[in-house]
Amino acid sequence: MYDLILVRYGEMTLKKKNYQNFLKQININIKNKLEKFPNLTFKNTNFRFYIYLNGEDYRNVIKELDTVVGLSSYSLCLEVKPDYDEIARAGIALINYEKEQINLSFKVETNRSDKNFPATSIEISQAVAKRILPKVPGLTVDVHHPDMTLSVDLRPEGTFVFVKTEPGLGGLPSGMSGRGLLMLSGGIDSPVAGYLCLRKGIELTALHFASPPYTSDMALQKVIDILAELSKYTLKGEIALLVCPFTKIQTAIHQKSDPAYTVTLMRRQMYKIADMLARNENYSALVNGESVGQVASQTLESLAVINEVTNLPVLRPLATYDKAEIMKIARKINTYEISIRPYEDCCTVFLPEHPIIKPRLQKVLAQEAKCELDGLLSEALEGMERISVSYKNKISLFEKKDNFQI
Ligand code: ATP
Ligand code: MG
Repeated sequence: MYDLILVRYGEMTLKKKNYQNFLKQININIKNKLEKFPNLTFKNTNFRFYIYLNGEDYRNVIKELDTVVGLSSYSLCLEVKPDYDEIARAGIALINYEKEQINLSFKVETNRSDKNFPATSIEISQAVAKRILPKVPGLTVDVHHPDMTLSVDLRPEGTFVFVKTEPGLGGLPSGMSGRGLLMLSGGIDSPVAGYLCLRKGIELTALHFASPPYTSDMALQKVIDILAELSKYTLKGEIALLVCPFTKIQTAIHQKSDPAYTVTLMRRQMYKIADMLARNENYSALVNGESVGQVASQTLESLAVINEVTNLPVLRPLATYDKAEIMKIARKINTYEISIRPYEDCCTVFLPEHPIIKPRLQKVLAQEAKCELDGLLSEALEGMERISVSYKNKISLFEKKDNFQI
């Protein structure tokens, strides 16, 4: 049915030089994502990107486009000559194809950016509507609240007709905003925090703290499956996962410190390890799924004490989100069902009954000193495992282990 997909870019407010980088990157990203469709051809201008289908099924192409960050919206179009009869013919075909009811109101909306066309937008809309009305039974005009809007886009590069505009993911193209290290638990929040950063064009590596035997391979599998979903929004369709052995640190904290402080201390060690790793491997920021007030360790006082171990920027995209909002996004990106699988994360192991809500730094430092953690932190860093996760090639820990490289 359709000739092409017209894609509109996002973040049009970017300044000149940034916008040129944006254009270059988004064009590369769209083409990369659509590589598997050999028949597609492309054309681009400063504001639009045209994907010519040449017989490819538009539904498959759109499925991929829905994972490209940086797109503001797209429309499935027919391309015609700038001629009333041709435009009307395309309009009739589209209305008949897309309409879901017999009695339908519509209007024609024209965007005439090709100023060579010898009529105003309103004249064009009227001339087209007049030709369409008698040809579609049950069709009426309603310029205020139409059931369907037929758009006619007259541009120097072509004349395009469409009836639907779908929103894109928005954000910035992958690869435009530097590299971040995502602290990823198996919970609901951190995958959403990761997704929001990917949407801003940040390239991510994930860091997960595991405490075997208290946490199981099932818990690690959750993290892998979550990352496979997130990898869809990346340029190469893959994300590296670093698994950090955390058992000895957790055990030392549990044995040597006041139970009220164990969560605060554990969080500080996670941030210390993330900080060291980020400095060794050149990540510019840490990303975390913390949300203000969600649990004891996420009051502003707790966050301040925990954050004290790093000077790197810490992105907390969910800081002000309600859980219901977070869950809605988690469902949209298919991580929710994975996150609610009932396997324990290291944060839920050894959880004290009354964690401190407003810890004071001096007291935390005194408790931390008792645990003698420095050697264990280096050991944890050295014991890190690296796994490459991709939605194209799903990993099951229960089938083969050879995806691990130590
Ligand atoms: P999530 O926040 O992912 O839903 P959660 O709510 O169970 O899981 P919290 O206890 O709220 O986890 O942890 C706050 C944040 O700390 C997480 O969002 C995540 O960024 C980080 N974090 C917690 N546990 C781990 C872990 N085992 N490995 C890596 N990061 C973790
Ligand atoms: Mg949380």
